[in-house]
Amino acid sequence: MTESPPHDAQHDAQRDPLTACVHCGFCLDACPTYRLTGDENNSPRGRLRLWREEAEGRLPADPWTDFYTQECVGCLACEPVCPANVPYGLALETVRRQHVAQGRDRPDWRLRLADRFARHPGRFGAAMLPIRLLRRLGWLRHRNLFPGRPALFESTARYAQRLMQTHRPSGPRVALLTGCLMDAVFREIHFATIRVLVENDVRVFVPAGQTCCGAFQEHAGFDGVESLRERNRTAFAAEDCDAIVTNSAGCGLALAKTLGPHPPVRDVIDFLNELGPIKRQRTATAAQTRLYVDLPCHLIHGQRVERVPERALDATGYQWEPAPLARECCGSGGVYHLRKPDNAREILARKAAFLNEAAGDPVCLVTTNHVCMMQWHSAASDGSVRKPFRVQHLIQLLDPAAE
Ligand code: SF4
Ligand code: SF4
Repeated sequence: MTESPPHDAQHDAQRDPLTACVHCGFCLDACPTYRLTGDENNSPRGRLRLWREEAEGRLPADPWTDFYTQECVGCLACEPVCPANVPYGLALETVRRQHVAQGRDRPDWRLRLADRFARHPGRFGAAMLPIRLLRRLGWLRHRNLFPGRPALFESTARYAQRLMQTHRPSGPRVALLTGCLMDAVFREIHFATIRVLVENDVRVFVPAGQTCCGAFQEHAGFDGVESLRERNRTAFAAEDCDAIVTNSAGCGLALAKTLGPHPPVRDVIDFLNELGPIKRQRTATAAQTRLYVDLPCHLIHGQRVERVPERALDATGYQWEPAPLARECCGSGGVYHLRKPDNAREILARKAAFLNEAAGDPVCLVTTNHVCMMQWHSAASDGSVRKPFRVQHLIQLLDPAAE
């Protein structure tokens, strides 16, 4: 198995996306970094031109090309608006990997350490035990680590088994992707996912041997994605199921690219929305909570699940409405908020400004991606949103165990 193609093959893989662009500029207004800077080189069209000029030998390897490549959030908002169907994400992934391999891009120690951990979810989970404990106790104050009460010792797989034995659902059978960061730090979202699925008569299991989906490595430009994909192909192929469900939009996209269409990789909210989930009853006071719904880029642009999950939102029992710029990027971009914090903050500030005037008390920002949740949570600590609000995954609002 080849981890990365040889140099010439990389250029061939890169050539198609690069030559497909017809320079129409329809993508410019969709691009958060173009909107932020007004700089053509900081747009999809500009980046594609720089990469093509370099690939065809008209431009030497240039620090400005490196800079503009790293400025890209990777949100994929440029793909659905493109009349020429340029696979921009594929081009970006290839160029990023080349830049890191050539030393033109040097991800810092935090990302290198996270890469090591992500490849071994079991070790990652053990190493993050103190973080889960501090989150559980409510003692952790960090701009990105939203509050929650994750299990300390019980694994997601064991929990799924336990609920299956107790409740014995008989409906569709789904496999759950547990991933790396989500399971190690935000495990309460997996547990809520299992409770909601089982309550809705869905049989859930967690395939052994699965690993990180590879999205983190794609975002950071690290090599070795193919070995992760191969492990997931083996783990998920071993089980017979109706669907593979994920509760993080970026992980879902990466897994869908890995496994193909059979069985389908489904976002759990989209899956439940289709099923029509059991409706939660709220007290009059609780029903005062106002939900503002954000739609993750990797769900709407990457997985092309563009509809607002209205049935699932109605089933929460809360009043809800889409956030005013729900289809725009929040700036999280997988690892972008770590690598380009100033840009990420500015992108989010534009999108989050409405919360300062938002109707409702309390106010809750709802999304379906843990990295977007981390990014939204940071808006409270950096002062860009003054009105108190909480961030939740939509699955948590359908959870029978939630207050
Ligand atoms: S992926 Fe997002 S940030 Fe990058 S070029 Fe496309 S729209 Fe712009
Ligand atoms: S919309 Fe597509 S074809 Fe048009 S400039 Fe952007 S990437 Fe090129």
